[in-house]
Amino acid sequence: MITEKLQNAINGQIVAEMWSANLYLSMSFYLEKEGYNGMAHWMKKQWGEENEHALEMAAYLLKRGGVAKVGKIDEVPQEFGTPLELFEQVYKHECHVSQLIDALVDLASAENDKATQDFLWGFVREQVEEEATAAGIVDMLKKAGVHICMVDAKLGERK
Ligand code: MG
Repeated sequence: MITEKLQNAINGQIVAEMWSANLYLSMSFYLEKEGYNGMAHWMKKQWGEENEHALEMAAYLLKRGGVAKVGKIDEVPQEFGTPLELFEQVYKHECHVSQLIDALVDLASAENDKATQDFLWGFVREQVEEEATAAGIVDMLKKAGVHICMVDAKLGERK
């Protein structure tokens, strides 16, 4: 059985994951409007991935005898500037999510809940990938300069 404190914190993270999903969907719509269909496709994949994170956390809470809740999700931005500026925002946001996950691990540790710590380590590792991927795209966009359509084509290949 998971403690109420930890359950509430993970429910908070479910909201954060869903907010991230909405952010990326909003970015996808924006990129498509700007004519970057490959990047828009990449963002829709990212949207799905963030929703998966929320579902994984909910499934874990239920497995541990807790309650999973869908809390209030704040509105997300709609304007993001150039593709480079947009992906810089993605990188910054993923660094922020990493901090949220780290804080959850600290709480699970304080609550002496080893199973939850173990569950959360998966997300800690995942955040390393998320940050590196976003940083890599920022780097690609900087190098591409006017040949931005090549980056758009590459991101359009995401499975
Ligand atoms: Mg996530």
